[in-house]
Amino acid sequence: MNELIFLQPVLHGKLWGGHRLHDDYGYEVPEGPVGECWAISAHPHGDCRVAGGTWDGKYFSELWAEHRELFGGLEGDEFPLLIKIIDAEDDLSIQVHPDDVYANEHENGSLGKRECWYVIDAREGGDIVVGQRAQNRDEFAQMIEDGRWDDLLNRVPIQKGDFFQIDPGTVHAILGGTLILETQQSSDVTYRVYDFDRRQADGSLRELHIQQAIDVVDFDVQAPTTGKVTAAEVDGVTRLVETPNYVVDRIVVGADAPVTYAQPWPFLNVSVIEGTGSVVAGDATYDLPKGTHFVAPFDSGDLAFTGDMTLIVSHV
Ligand code: ZN
Repeated sequence: MNELIFLQPVLHGKLWGGHRLHDDYGYEVPEGPVGECWAISAHPHGDCRVAGGTWDGKYFSELWAEHRELFGGLEGDEFPLLIKIIDAEDDLSIQVHPDDVYANEHENGSLGKRECWYVIDAREGGDIVVGQRAQNRDEFAQMIEDGRWDDLLNRVPIQKGDFFQIDPGTVHAILGGTLILETQQSSDVTYRVYDFDRRQADGSLRELHIQQAIDVVDFDVQAPTTGKVTAAEVDGVTRLVETPNYVVDRIVVGADAPVTYAQPWPFLNVSVIEGTGSVVAGDATYDLPKGTHFVAPFDSGDLAFTGDMTLIVSHV
């Protein structure tokens, strides 16, 4: 049986970031505002190292390249998913991501980016941008040129525990006061549509990618009006979404409600977003403090969770 693989997150400073990744999660962070914790990643822009166990110190991308048996022999040049915690003290840019076909052609063979957000915490009265109101490319381009952001962008109120699926081609932005667990394809391709005319520390504006955004916006997607989770919880497990790229579940473990989660998949990503507990896999027991992220590799056995905690798990 394969042991669980615990990863050391990579923290990224961001203009719009805050201090909760240090204050709430205890991560070692660089100076200044920190927006993103790349928690489970083999992406070259933030490749996590293994913490402890047989593979201690190895980059996660090395495990993917050299030990594909840990992933059940899954095919692909790169580990397909990327898990982040995002601390948006301030608004992120209004953006859109391409699909696999567009990204492969225009971004050096990159994957496209389908992503989803589980809202760990949200400011009272907070909201988020998901979707836009233009009918076609001409209208979209015109509204951008005229700066009619209030007419163009679909804002949705958010609360702790909400969930949003963001398909490629959907205009979106995480807005200030939001803490999110993001599950996404392993891609770093973002087309920025609007950045509120903010300046970086050196006085420069961040680059916009208006033409690419106009190219990739999907005018058929329905803009949601709520992020409320309506799926039923079954034995502590709530199915948040199933897409061609990933399946995401929330697991709630209570003092009197342990949860056993089957692991028949090539791999399983697990993040402890609230509370603490422990997990038994095979004949090993592991502590799970808040903010722990691990990958249960292929053939690691079913996961028996106890404690008082909330987890987000995903697999392909
Ligand atoms: Zn995005």
